[in-house]
Amino acid sequence: MGGIDWGDAPTWVAGAFAAVAAYYARGTMKSQQKQIEEQRHFIAEQSLNLALERAQLSAAAEDRKWEQARQISMKAWIQGGRFDRATGQTEGPRVWSAEVLNGSPVAIWAIHLCFVPADQDAAGPGLEANPEGRFRHSLAASEKEYLFSAPAPLAVLERNRPVLHFRDDGGVEWALNEYGKLTEKSGDCQCPAAQV
Ligand SMILES: [Zn+2]
Repeated sequence: MGGIDWGDAPTWVAGAFAAVAAYYARGTMKSQQKQIEEQRHFIAEQSLNLALERAQLSAAAEDRKWEQARQISMKAWIQGGRFDRATGQTEGPRVWSAEVLNGSPVAIWAIHLCFVPADQDAAGPGLEANPEGRFRHSLAASEKEYLFSAPAPLAVLERNRPVLHFRDDGGVEWALNEYGKLTEKSGDCQCPAAQV
């Protein structure tokens, strides 16, 4: 009798089962790999979204931080002295004057002038702010104030440039120079006007 050798049937059946199992196992593995791949892609996309969200949030926070300080303005000029008709010159000590305007809707704090050397070569003696008007504890919304330096010869004033220091409503310390450049201050204030 030809045909199937039934004596070997169990082996054959086992082999067939093994083949089918392997086939399905491969299928399962493939679909699992696909799932893992999809998950990986999803996670990558999510972390990208989170990073973008974080960047947007910190940009918005940075904007908010600068918002009030940008509404503070200062105009500074040298004034005083005595005009001498004979020479046509203004003589004697003069002062730096600064008009400070709080254009923001809330108060600012610890308002004072500091003087920084115009350049490193011309550092010269430091200039102190006028004791009478050197420090304002607070400046209300829309309030204006005038701050002065101590009197000094013109050459000294020209070497020492005024910088306005103040603290905003959020507690951040700022420096605003006579050209309108605003920078966040780092560290404690070392200027004489702040030591009162
Ligand atoms: Zn200061």
